[in-house]
Amino acid sequence: MIKENIARVKERIISACLKAKREPAGIKLIVVSKNRGVEEIKEAVSAGLSEFGENRVQEAVLKYKELSLTAYRLPLIKWHMVGHLQTNKVREAVKIFDLIQSVDSLRLALEIDKEALRINKIQDILLEVKVSPEATKFGLKPEEIIEVTKEVSGLKNINIKGLMAIAPIADNPEKVRPYFRMLRELQDKINSLQLIAYRLQLLSMGMTDDFETAIEEGSNMVRIGRAIFEN
Ligand SMILES: *Cc1c(COP(=O)(O)O)cnc(C)c1O
Repeated sequence: MIKENIARVKERIISACLKAKREPAGIKLIVVSKNRGVEEIKEAVSAGLSEFGENRVQEAVLKYKELSLTAYRLPLIKWHMVGHLQTNKVREAVKIFDLIQSVDSLRLALEIDKEALRINKIQDILLEVKVSPEATKFGLKPEEIIEVTKEVSGLKNINIKGLMAIAPIADNPEKVRPYFRMLRELQDKINSLQLIAYRLQLLSMGMTDDFETAIEEGSNMVRIGRAIFEN
């Protein structure tokens, strides 16, 4: 079932790309494996996927350890933190996550920088933007993103790769289009202001209910859970 679901998601990504005149290879599919077991992750790996999103550090650490004891070697799998990260979990998080997508405050970024320095790592992150008041509790306000980007870009053990957002739940994906567009425009603005020495590349937006719209609006990283694990 997971294999078939993944094939279907890939087809939908390709269709959205055709519609938007984009290259499907430019879209990274992150499997959101929160609340799913290691066996399900292995099935997704067998179907050719290798990047997984988790929203709780403890749960991710357990799966990370379990998978490292099997033939599913660590370098094969990349782990993404997509849930709210508490500062007291940062030490564990920087040990296992390749990309922390949910950096939602300067305070959290400072803590990540400190813990990454301890283990001599440059931690890749995304800044999470609260594009709509009702979508999530967490995220930087759009009006503070420029300032925070400036501050965080000065931290030596953090590498900002782009922006992430969660759209509000809507009965019709057209309703969330403006939120995706807003994130895309924020990214363009940061890049055109040249706040950092390099361009932000990653735009992580789009989940099971809205990823096609997100792709049409420029997403290059979709985070999919239900469409892969549910019937
Ligand atoms: C759960 C979750 C997803 C996946 O959502 P689905 O609707 O199951 O595809 C993506 N991003 C974040 C931040 C999540 O918490």
